[in-house]
Amino acid sequence: MQFRNFKLVGYVIYGRGSFNQLDQILETKRSEGLPMIFLVDHFFNNKELVKRIPVKENDKIIFADVTYEPKTTYVDSIAAELKEEFGSVSGVIGIGGGSTMDLAKAVALMMTNTGSSADYQGWDLVKVPGVYKAGIPTLSGTGAEVSRTTVLTGPTKKLGMNSDFTPFDQIILDPELTSNVPKDQRFYTGMDCYIHCIESLQGTFLNEFSKSYGEKALQLCREVFIENPARRSGGDKWDKENDDKLMMASYAGGMSIAYSQVGVAHAVSYGLSYLLGTKHGIGNCIVFNHLEEYYPDGVKEFKKMVDKNNIHIPKNICAALTEEQFQVMINVSLGMKPLWENALGTDWEKIMTKEKLRALYEKL
Ligand code: NAD
Ligand code: ZN
Repeated sequence: MQFRNFKLVGYVIYGRGSFNQLDQILETKRSEGLPMIFLVDHFFNNKELVKRIPVKENDKIIFADVTYEPKTTYVDSIAAELKEEFGSVSGVIGIGGGSTMDLAKAVALMMTNTGSSADYQGWDLVKVPGVYKAGIPTLSGTGAEVSRTTVLTGPTKKLGMNSDFTPFDQIILDPELTSNVPKDQRFYTGMDCYIHCIESLQGTFLNEFSKSYGEKALQLCREVFIENPARRSGGDKWDKENDDKLMMASYAGGMSIAYSQVGVAHAVSYGLSYLLGTKHGIGNCIVFNHLEEYYPDGVKEFKKMVDKNNIHIPKNICAALTEEQFQVMINVSLGMKPLWENALGTDWEKIMTKEKLRALYEKL
């Protein structure tokens, strides 16, 4: 048996207002003449947060367009522009949700690795360390702040650059930064974390390491999405404590899947996202809503959360698809072998046949 020996994030800072320490943190990471690049979610363009970014000399702020989830072409174009303008850079700092953090990780890697980021979609293909990189989440749930991957849509596949060089050197977990996230978005990305926990805790790959983190993250999700809204009858109000908890739930959920794997909802939602561009958080919700057969308790609780928080989950999104389109989704989904194996065991191919998966897609 070969145990996974995984690389973690280098440094972690947690707390309200910890963003203010960014300047101090970066001080020793600056190389003479080379700029720090701040890749910032476009939501923050013209917002207060931008004024708090410690921009020095030739540093540069780039607003990341996250209308679509990150593509390899976008990563390559940012890296090419930076090389052209500066030769090299001191580091790349990603400030935003999962999309911006993934983009920052990938750009940092592509500052030193040759060719296209599409060449590195897969496992352990990245050849050399990238430049220094830090991640600062402004939206909680994906666990992208702790993971060893950066999920990219490339010319032929949607797959991460999974490698020991991918985790951030530093993360700053400042829950204050998540206070403006719209209610639905907070729920969808929060549910990404909830689903990570259910899929990890009910997976065949589970061990005590994953369980410890998964159970804690699950408890925090329950406090945030069930107990808290219930207390304030209506659930439209939000508070600081929820932001604090959700940020730690995201971190712990990410740690849980680092040593296990996700499952059915992720495998199926990857198909949706590849074909229809459905975003990760909402896509997982659309799928999970129909997974009673696989996660009966989790789905029941999920529906309770949807109700309590007054969230709309889209339905019938596959109603107008052609046979060919169904087959594309089925093939993408069945290609996610480790996810199926974690969810259904080594005999998963006998359980999740193409016909069964097609019937599931038809329900979405
Ligand atoms: P996102 O980063 O795509 O952002 C969603 C929306 O929220 C955007 O419109 C953004 O502008 C907005 N937003 C972000 N912060 C905000 C704030 N503080 N206030 C107001 N609006 C804000 O959403 P996400 O769910 O965090 O990330 C999804 C992405 O993460 C997908 O690309 C997915 O593939 C990736 N992902 C990566 C990993 C990993 O391990 N690397 C894991 C899960 C998901
Ligand atoms: Zn996820």
